[in-house]
Amino acid sequence: MKYVDAHIHLSDPEYADCIDEVIAEARNGNVVAMVSNSVDLKTSEGNLKLAGHYPGLVHAALGVHPWNMQTITEEEIQQTTRLIEENRQNKALVAVGEIGMDSKYMSIWEKQINVFDGMLRLAEKLDLPVIIHSRGTTAQIVDMLPSYRLRKVLLHWFSNPISALAKAIDSGYYISEGPPTVYSNGIQDVVTRAPLSNLLTETDGPVRYFRKPFDGKRTTPAYMPMVINAIAEIKKQSQTDVAAQVVRNFEEFFGIKLN
Ligand SMILES: [Zn+2]
Repeated sequence: MKYVDAHIHLSDPEYADCIDEVIAEARNGNVVAMVSNSVDLKTSEGNLKLAGHYPGLVHAALGVHPWNMQTITEEEIQQTTRLIEENRQNKALVAVGEIGMDSKYMSIWEKQINVFDGMLRLAEKLDLPVIIHSRGTTAQIVDMLPSYRLRKVLLHWFSNPISALAKAIDSGYYISEGPPTVYSNGIQDVVTRAPLSNLLTETDGPVRYFRKPFDGKRTTPAYMPMVINAIAEIKKQSQTDVAAQVVRNFEEFFGIKLN
């Protein structure tokens, strides 16, 4: 069986001193592709470098994350935008991400909306898929996206509201779920309702998971089989079929053919 991690942050400082180990764990765990997401200019540059280093295995999503709106300068946003534009023909670049909005940071709400809008327009212009963070803002984001002509949309770690899920699926959006699929009733409910054809798997590493069996250990793409098994149980399908479908979804979403 082959596995994919559609949302990880390999250029995060937490992985800096163990990146070779993490890549080896992924390979040993039959993870055949990872999309490494960015949060600012530095991690965007880092992800391009990693994708160059591990071609075919690591793919880069570039963008600015809503959590950075407090400190990021207009200049850095422009530089990141330029970096994305300059790399449009670079095969390593597969999406604009991680971008979005987060209701936990209301003091920087207006900047969040403006920067998110800018990133969506960029994805529209360059015809690239988007990977979206939508904590507390999913319903609003699902409502606003149809006003953009986006190639493909991935709502990563979709959790709630369930009412926004049908709309997202009707719009052809994908959702990705990770280790919480193993232990969270809420995420299991989302996976129950979402068609398998719209599902991708992720770790969001280096985010750590403190529930069993993960116990707060360093997050690795090698968690992917556990996530596939959890989805297979929910969907009452074989792990082989679910893993193969998720690989096909990944290829379809990012426009990549995996070996
Ligand atoms: Zn993330």
